[in-house]
Amino acid sequence: MNDLSQSVGNLSGVGAQTLYRLDKLGIRVISDLIFHLPYRYEDRTRVYVIASLMSGMHALITGRIEYVDVLPRGRKGLVCKMTDDTGEITLRFFHFNAYQHNVLKPGTLISCFGEVRQTFSGLEMTHPDYRIMTHPDADITESRLTPVYPLTEGLSQNALRKLVKQALHLCELNSQLLIDWVPEQALKRFAFPTLASAINTLHAPDEMISVDALQSGNVPALKRLAFEELLAHHLSLRVTRNKARKWQAPRFTNKDQPTLITQFLDSLPFKLTGAQQRVIKEISADCSSSQPMLRLVQGDVGSGKTIVSAYAALLALSAGYQVAVMAPTELLAEQHLRNFSVWFASFNTQVAFLTGQVKGNIRKEILQGLADGVVGIIIGTHALFQESVNFKNLGLIIIDEQHRFGVNQRMALREKGQQGNVRPHQLVMTATPIPRTLAMLQYSDLDVSIIDELPPGRKPIVTSVIPAERRAEVIDRINSWVEKGRQVYWVCTLIEESEVLECEAAEKTAELLTLALPKVKVALIHGRMKSVDKEIVMQAFKHHQIDLLVATTVIEVGVDVPNAGLMVIENPERLGLSQLHQLRGRVGRGEGDSYCLLMYQTPLSEVARQRLGILRDSNDGFVIAEKDLELRGPGEVMGTRQTGAINFRIADLVRDADLLETIQPIAEEIFTNSPHVIQPLCDRWLGASTDYAEV
Ligand code: ADP
Ligand code: MG
Repeated sequence: MNDLSQSVGNLSGVGAQTLYRLDKLGIRVISDLIFHLPYRYEDRTRVYVIASLMSGMHALITGRIEYVDVLPRGRKGLVCKMTDDTGEITLRFFHFNAYQHNVLKPGTLISCFGEVRQTFSGLEMTHPDYRIMTHPDADITESRLTPVYPLTEGLSQNALRKLVKQALHLCELNSQLLIDWVPEQALKRFAFPTLASAINTLHAPDEMISVDALQSGNVPALKRLAFEELLAHHLSLRVTRNKARKWQAPRFTNKDQPTLITQFLDSLPFKLTGAQQRVIKEISADCSSSQPMLRLVQGDVGSGKTIVSAYAALLALSAGYQVAVMAPTELLAEQHLRNFSVWFASFNTQVAFLTGQVKGNIRKEILQGLADGVVGIIIGTHALFQESVNFKNLGLIIIDEQHRFGVNQRMALREKGQQGNVRPHQLVMTATPIPRTLAMLQYSDLDVSIIDELPPGRKPIVTSVIPAERRAEVIDRINSWVEKGRQVYWVCTLIEESEVLECEAAEKTAELLTLALPKVKVALIHGRMKSVDKEIVMQAFKHHQIDLLVATTVIEVGVDVPNAGLMVIENPERLGLSQLHQLRGRVGRGEGDSYCLLMYQTPLSEVARQRLGILRDSNDGFVIAEKDLELRGPGEVMGTRQTGAINFRIADLVRDADLLETIQPIAEEIFTNSPHVIQPLCDRWLGASTDYAEV
């Protein structure tokens, strides 16, 4: 065997079954096995005496079984008492077979590895990894730390360990096999170990390295590989971006454009902020070039992104191209429809609406209008692109609240509207600010514009964190608020997975609030209502025929009713901070004060208390995201709904934040001086499925 790109099937002991199971773990070639790294380690290099054990430790112990008991039905389980010269510990097995029952007998000498817990009745290990000892002095310690790998059903730690050993042995035999693609200057700069040494260290760390150091990522070998993984991801996105730029795009130029722009801006009831003007300039420059624009506009909730996207639409329309606007929810799509219909009323074109719910003749008519160009702007949900919609000449795709869509959806969209080697421009918008360092990995296939200024006159939203016990007080407050002629949102949240439960909770809350507030007009909106019904409720709320809108998190994005200045969020501790910030952004949109009451269930954990405190103390989405990142993992900041979030094998965006700064310059250097390393690096870390050539 002479290279690492051959199938793992060539290793000894790998049959069809194992091949299939390895494939499930993404392990196809030998190199995949080498880069399948342990996610934790066990220290079996020393034996602990029972008296020295403390709760929470993972430890290797030896001793003699004193007695064994099988608990009666209901609490079925096998319990052993084991002692050494210093103390005793209980071993508990909830599942056991006849063989185990047979060997675990009083008098038997065993060694156990497991997590120690302190219980009311003393020390305990549940399901320890145990071995029968033939001799009291037998050496049962390992010379190296024991790696624990991510597994899949049917594949054991031991089987995987053996395969990894075989793969590593191949590399030992031929040191040419494992090629170090990271540029030397990076290795030097961080004093990184060589690739071979890093790999060996991680699969079989010697006892000098502590488990704690490995687990906290504080080991050069780990840093070395985390760096390589981050670099590979960054490179792959950059390649995608470079490829996208190879396409042609329509130039939105036209002699009437300046007049149309002036008319458009004059017709607005406000003046654009400096930040909006700056971003519009960036968009204009993109759209007058013959390369497709790939721009992300990041701006906090309420910063006025919609009008900026409408400006881009104006450029496209004025040059005779069609525009598609995609929103993550029907509610938001409908709101865009209203806005765009007003803004483009004087244009000689049709603004149309298309979701999965639009059916029959109306649908036919719209599809026809798109095909022959009568419809200039089409607004809808992702159904817009899943269906066989044909455009006459699509020039611009606008994607709102892109955090709700994944990277893959974003990529797939780019192929829509392609004609020959010409692709539409693409503008994506998000109100979910992610810290700059993360943006570099998440969005390095896009150019980023930031609207870092809110329209004038906005007052900060006053946020309070209160326990649910004070519900009656909150209800009083709603009463007096409504008497003043203002409107209120009441948001019911539940755990993400259960939309049904969330809707039921909202229904119940609406009923209770209707009873508690006889003078207040209460209505309900949730995700399981029909589109038309949602629209009727939203319109009624907008026109102040409703005082209090009880809602689920469907109103998270986009909804804009300036007179609603009070929001109550139930169980805020269940949501991510960025999502809460989004929700809260529904208020504070008009004149007058605005308030957000975060009404939590007691007791509240310390971390939850801190997180809600962040929200109370800041109205700045970027600050909130940064702080949230410090307190929690990056996956949570990006939100579980963000299907586009990258899953790293070993890199950890919080732990390895210090590396992120250096990725970009080193990637730059690779593009200029050693582009040949891109493909192998990406194959190694992202799987060999994509072609990274033609950069
Ligand atoms: P978001 O960035 O959250 O999508 P929107 O585009 O919905 O924000 O804008 C929020 C509100 O601010 C809307 O009512 C919009 O009309 C208004 N708005 C946008 N730009 C300005 C501005 N420059 N001055 C005043 N109001 C503005
Ligand atoms: Mg918006």
